[in-house]
Amino acid sequence: MMTTIKGKKMFIGGRWIEKLNTMDVCDPEDNSIITTVPKASKEDMLATIKMAEEGAGIAAKMPVHERISILNKAADYVEKYHELFANTIASEGSKTIKEARGEVSRCIETLRLSAEEARRINGETIPFDQMPGHENRIGYYYNFPIGIIAAITPFNDPLNLVAHKIGPAIASGNAIIVKPASLTPLSALLLAEAFDDAGLPEKVLSVITGSGSEIGDTLVTHPSIRMVSFTGGLETGESIAKKAGLKKLSMELGSNSPVIVLDDADVDDAVNGSVSGAFGAVGQNCLGVQRIFIHDDVYVRFTDKFIQQIEQYKVGRKKDEQTDMGPLISEQEAIRVEQWVQEAIDEGAELLTGGHRDGAFYEPTVLTNVTPTAKIAREEIFGPVVILFRICDLSDAIDQANSVNYGLQAGIFTKDIHQAFEAIGSLEVGGLLINDSSDYRIDGMPFGGVKGSGLGREGVKFSIQDMVEPKVVQFKL
Ligand code: NAP
Repeated sequence: MMTTIKGKKMFIGGRWIEKLNTMDVCDPEDNSIITTVPKASKEDMLATIKMAEEGAGIAAKMPVHERISILNKAADYVEKYHELFANTIASEGSKTIKEARGEVSRCIETLRLSAEEARRINGETIPFDQMPGHENRIGYYYNFPIGIIAAITPFNDPLNLVAHKIGPAIASGNAIIVKPASLTPLSALLLAEAFDDAGLPEKVLSVITGSGSEIGDTLVTHPSIRMVSFTGGLETGESIAKKAGLKKLSMELGSNSPVIVLDDADVDDAVNGSVSGAFGAVGQNCLGVQRIFIHDDVYVRFTDKFIQQIEQYKVGRKKDEQTDMGPLISEQEAIRVEQWVQEAIDEGAELLTGGHRDGAFYEPTVLTNVTPTAKIAREEIFGPVVILFRICDLSDAIDQANSVNYGLQAGIFTKDIHQAFEAIGSLEVGGLLINDSSDYRIDGMPFGGVKGSGLGREGVKFSIQDMVEPKVVQFKL
């Protein structure tokens, strides 16, 4: 039974713990304090890992039917309190209430998918007699859990990206320690409540709140941690990867995703897909559209319609049902975005719409005449800013799209199957959407990037593959 967020407490090995040292959790819309959460110390982290060492043994012994039942009960709990979860996301984060409801529904899907995949963690028999002299041997391999997983998550999908780590970890019989983003820890704590209520044995799951730069090293370098599953920025990801040592790594990092609009595209479709893909979650979306490459022949038509649609976009209070776009995660982030745009303009870019900031709010903004080497064209803006480029053909678009150090997802709008296959073969990305923008994902598909966008794939089944290891068993007859 629950009704309220257990503010001021973190979830350590199945117990709700208070601390004198706390951090404020604020609503970025007006900087009001929602509540406080504990600010864990390195000693707290060490105690959490010690508990998880016992938790790993408990999790590994949980029969699959029990894992399935707990995951489904946690999903039921999220479903029952759907609106509370959505309100929590929309309070601590940037998402509008409509976007937050979508994330809660996806979290339920992620947990149910995890329950389904738990029964499919199989092994195989091995034909040892493939080698002459081994005819008297039979055997198999099965997949066993790796132990303790450290999960570090970002602010922009504060619930479902946590579910993408806890769900597969429990399905595969592992213990897990989650360190959520300090700006948005409440959704992760609420998800811990769902698992607490579902009867997850103590010590299997911890959600520890605190500063990543203070307690992160203790977690990622600890020898008992067998895998670091990180979702966040490239810089943080690279520094964790360097420190982690001999551990499995899953790195879900950022991007500045391209969309290509060819001369035979359905321009209305391309505009609709690009607007929502660029400005959903205030552009703070790892697969959000940042660079649009438009064929000369449809450039003016696309641009006019694109700007027209953006100018109707309603920026406002997150919990207003009519709002399309809320504030960025902090005023500091909005100032950074404003500076990047100004820098591009100083270097000769043309501002087609937007460009104004009010506190943490920043208007949907479109730039053109940006040099391909400018920072805004190469790095991840992670804000509501899109750059339009003219292209003369597909190969021009592919060269420019591939010219950056990111490669998460891309979109292409064309009716020509040959051009689509050319893009499939040549774009350096983890996923390509034909006749949609880069901003598409379901929770059961492999999701992840190449180059600076990361290592490995999430998407329940694919996360589980990383969270287990095969053990070979062989009988000599
Ligand atoms: P971030 O600054 O990299 O932080 C991510 C997490 O890392 C937070 O929990 C943070 O804790 C923690 N952290 C910071 N320093 C650490 C350290 N030294 N050791 C261990 N942990 C540390 O990212 P963000 O600003 O929250 O999120 C935005 C980024 O995430 C964007 O680049 C976006 O593209 C990416 N992202 C990728 C995906 C994907 O699936 N590919 C999905 C969503 C977002 P504190 O909050 O306490 O600092």
